[in-house]
Amino acid sequence: MSKVAVYPGSFDPITFGHIDIAKRALKLFDHLIIMISVNPSKKTLFTAQERKWLVEQALLDEKDRIKVVINEDLKVNKARELGATHIVRGLRAVTDFEYEFQMITANRVLDHEIDSVFFMTDSRFSFLSSNNVKEIARFKGELDAFVPEIVKQKLNEKYSLN
Ligand code: ADP
Repeated sequence: MSKVAVYPGSFDPITFGHIDIAKRALKLFDHLIIMISVNPSKKTLFTAQERKWLVEQALLDEKDRIKVVINEDLKVNKARELGATHIVRGLRAVTDFEYEFQMITANRVLDHEIDSVFFMTDSRFSFLSSNNVKEIARFKGELDAFVPEIVKQKLNEKYSLN
């Protein structure tokens, strides 16, 4: 049976840090479902559709093993519905741990069968977040080290229109 995991997140927008985690996860799982979270209380720069499209473009070379979905449900419910056994998350530094720990605990109560798996990012990306990237783009900084070309283009479009 093929091993399936979900990788949930905002991906607003996808960065090399997210891509690094997705590729590491594909060494362990046969298929990875990237779940774009829609959280009405969290304002995003890109719409869910735009975030989904950018993830698909950024991971085009793995398109046979990666599927991207938009999720408005509880992560564990959606994971179960999609036949996933694990939730993948990335860790940058110990500061990520506290928040992740709370999330795993809650998810365990909701569904004790679904386990979370954490991958540590390459040290080149340990200070990288979507928020950093948006900040750099807003001030027209150099984005090449942080995001793929297509993401860079879309960020530049967003900020030159605003
Ligand atoms: P969320 O709002 O769920 O935190 P993000 O898109 O910010 O959504 O992050 C999704 C996942 O990717 C999280 O597990 C986060 O820790 C991980 N992640 C984000 N950026 C990096 C990075 N530079 N290196 C490793 N993991 C990362």
